[in-house]
Amino acid sequence: MSWGFDTDPEFQKELDWIDEFVRNEIEPLDMLLDSPYDVTLPERNRLVKPLQKIVRERKLWACHLGPELGGQGYGQLKLALMNEILGRSVFAPTIFGCQAPDSGNAEILAHYGTPEQKKKYLEPLLDNEIVSTFAMTEPQGGADPLILTTRAERDGDHWVINGEKWFASTANFASFFITMVVTDPNVSAYKGMSMFIVPAGTPGLEMVRDVHLAGRKYNNRGHGHGYMRYTNVRVPADHLLGGEGNAFVVAQTRLGGGRIHHAMRTIGEARKAFAMMCERAVSRQLKRGRLADKQLVQAMIADSWIELEQFRLLVLRTAWLIDKHNDYKLVRKDISAVKAAMPKVLHDIVARAIQIHGSLGLTNEMPLVEQLVSSFVIGLADGPTEVHKITLAKELLKMVTPSTELFPAYHLPARRARALAKYGPVDKTAGL
Ligand SMILES: Cc1cc2nc3c(=O)[nH]c(=O)nc-3n(C[C@H](O)[C@H](O)[C@H](O)COP(=O)(O)OP(=O)(O)OC[C@H]3O[C@@H](n4cnc5c(N)ncnc54)[C@H](O)[C@@H]3O)c2cc1C
Repeated sequence: MSWGFDTDPEFQKELDWIDEFVRNEIEPLDMLLDSPYDVTLPERNRLVKPLQKIVRERKLWACHLGPELGGQGYGQLKLALMNEILGRSVFAPTIFGCQAPDSGNAEILAHYGTPEQKKKYLEPLLDNEIVSTFAMTEPQGGADPLILTTRAERDGDHWVINGEKWFASTANFASFFITMVVTDPNVSAYKGMSMFIVPAGTPGLEMVRDVHLAGRKYNNRGHGHGYMRYTNVRVPADHLLGGEGNAFVVAQTRLGGGRIHHAMRTIGEARKAFAMMCERAVSRQLKRGRLADKQLVQAMIADSWIELEQFRLLVLRTAWLIDKHNDYKLVRKDISAVKAAMPKVLHDIVARAIQIHGSLGLTNEMPLVEQLVSSFVIGLADGPTEVHKITLAKELLKMVTPSTELFPAYHLPARRARALAKYGPVDKTAGL
């Protein structure tokens, strides 16, 4: 049995290097450029590509992937320790080749893509020559994928897609859209939906609006969430990804990893807010002492640290479980627990950081309100918190045996009767 919290010293050296590199080389880009996804912008490439080259040379590129795809096959635990550093910066995941949604899209292309699909879409995606979009949510339904209506119908050696997609992140820069559609409305949605690769620029594919999150004004990241319309969009039959009727299986491959990776990065975001909160507390002077000397402020700092560390342990344990089982399905409840816990941890820590900064905290001269929006984003993207709580509760309850008696098994009279049956009567005064 092994049970410990030590990081392998060799890997710790890598983490220390990553920490310095992100702090000194990458975080400044967050202040200068609008979006890591804008791969055609010369200024972005001038600054980003040399840093990506350094990461590749250091053998830290695309660490979420196995060596056969140019990654390191590190596994989720090492990835968690890396991602909690990368989560501090908007550009860092792109510099390390593991940015969402491309990382998840690459995973499904790697798993289910044909050799031609891999050559045409996966290879340039892994090289960050292009970026991609995952289009599942529709204007009339997101949390419940069973009510999606975008339809693909077979026409000779093509499929023809009609419908609308909503909140397709980074759509304005994407070269292709992995799109989930109904291919057979006469069977259960679990068997009647399929995934297609739809290249950007295909006739009939239009962006109705590029929707942006509220409040993203200062240093706007430049990528929105596409409201997309598909009108008689024709794609060749070989653009089906993962076989007809397999959309749910394909989506799960991407979402398990996507959710835990978001959680890893959220630790980094929450740490950033915590560090700001602490710096402000020890810096801001009152007539008598600093903010840090006030017990109510100390309580905010203590609560934030406890919540962050609790969450981090849950994430690391889940990452360790994924490595151990090598199957997301077996860790479903743990991933849902992480996903459900994540928004509240970030929200509460950021809200306290705002409060401690006073008026300054609410301005667009600080990143805190944007981080507060992020806490809501992670409560929705990849499924709302409520749905993950339902999954968690269902999985937990599956393991519980109902009582066959009128009163519960833990009813004290019943427990006492069982204890008496095991040990017989006990005279508590005997031997006194
Ligand atoms: C920043 C961001 C990026 C996103 N990127 C993408 C993307 O790239 N591709 C993509 O396809 N989608 C994307 N989404 C969409 C995301 O997956 C959906 O927002 C999410 O699934 C919820 O769907 P909805 O917004 O339609 O809300 P609804 O489905 O209308 O749900 C609204 C609320 O109803 C409640 N609710 C819903 N179902 C239940 C239930 N069963 N039990 C209890 N309460 C429930 C929850 O409180 C939920 O928040 C993104 C979302 C955000 C915010």
